[in-house]
Amino acid sequence: MASDFVIQLGLHQLQLLKGDITKIAVDAIVNAANAALAGGGGVDGAIHRAGGPEIMRELDQIRAQIGRCEPGKAVVTGAGKLPAKYVFHAVGPIYRDGKHGEPEQLASCYRTCLELAAERGVRTISFPSISTGAYGYPLEEAAEIAVRTVASWLHDHTGPVHVVKLVQFSDHDHAVYREHAQRLHGAMPHTAHG
Ligand code: ADP
Repeated sequence: MASDFVIQLGLHQLQLLKGDITKIAVDAIVNAANAALAGGGGVDGAIHRAGGPEIMRELDQIRAQIGRCEPGKAVVTGAGKLPAKYVFHAVGPIYRDGKHGEPEQLASCYRTCLELAAERGVRTISFPSISTGAYGYPLEEAAEIAVRTVASWLHDHTGPVHVVKLVQFSDHDHAVYREHAQRLHGAMPHTAHG
């Protein structure tokens, strides 16, 4: 799948893609999970369907140990049959009004997964649009947080993580992410393609 928009940050790339995250080969796929780690619809359902039952078996063990996973945090499993080594199950905030810590929790999802990736020597990682489906986060605000948080993390870290793919499932979502990436790029001393 061609990358539709790329921000080059030194040796690192932030890519925006439109597509199905379960079809894109990377080292680590981020899932938009729920606090119960119980599986659900949306991208979570797609990841479990494509990855097979092994992923839920691992989550059962994690759940037995830690109970729940709070918003802004993530747990790690293998990726079953998905074209990846790991799935990072990040729990996004359920949007209320934006004044209950939602922006911080959403940014924390992206940062936490990037840290997990760096610790595991992950070079390529993909994220869905966390919290903007069933969890109701306004897309414009979520896209701005996603693009800014990832770009600033990549800017600040030299490590194994080379390519971060933000994957949008619809043309509309992709256009909104792209707009924010272009705006951010205008504010950054880097080159963009696409
Ligand atoms: P949340 O509960 O965090 O809001 P959802 O899964 O409901 O999570 O939605 C998050 C985003 O994932 C939405 O933009 C949805 O369109 C998108 N999505 C759903 N299926 C896929 C998929 N297969 N690949 C990429 N994104 C997907």
